[in-house]
Amino acid sequence: MKTRVTSILVTTVLLAGLCAAGAADKKHLGGPKGGRLLEKTEPKAEFYLEKDHTVTVTFYDATLKPIAVGAQAVTVIADAKGGKATLEFEKKGDVLVSKTKLPEGDGYNVVVQFKQTSAAKPQNFRFKLETNACATCKRAEYACICDE
Ligand SMILES: [Zn+2]
Repeated sequence: MKTRVTSILVTTVLLAGLCAAGAADKKHLGGPKGGRLLEKTEPKAEFYLEKDHTVTVTFYDATLKPIAVGAQAVTVIADAKGGKATLEFEKKGDVLVSKTKLPEGDGYNVVVQFKQTSAAKPQNFRFKLETNACATCKRAEYACICDE
C-alpha cells in the first residue's frame, strides 16, 4: 500500500520481512485469476474485472481449485460518477458473468450482493474498484492482498 512507501527505510525492510511471512501463512488469499476473493463465501467466490469491464465470478474449493457455480446469485451495484449501474449475472459454463459492463474508468465504489441461493439473505461486499497495480503485491488495488 502507498502508506508503506512513506515509512522510514529500516521499518520498510522489517515490514517487507513480515509481509513475506504473512503471505506464506496465506492470511490474505488472492483470487487465482488476479481478482478479489469475497470474504466468508463458501465455496470461495472471486470477483474479477475483465479487460472489457464485464465481471466474472469464479468459485473455488478450499485448495483454490475452480469448481462450478451452483445456486449462487450475484448482483453488482456500481456507484460511478456518471450514476449508479446495476449488473445482473448469468451462468456461463462454470462461472457467473455479468450481462452488462461496469461503467468506464475506476475509483468508484461497488457493492457485490452475494446470495448463496436465490432464496438466501444477501451478503454485501463493498469495496473501491481501483485498477492500478499495488506497488507491493503487483495485483490490482481492488484485489490487493497486502495488510492494511
Ligand atoms: Zn498489495
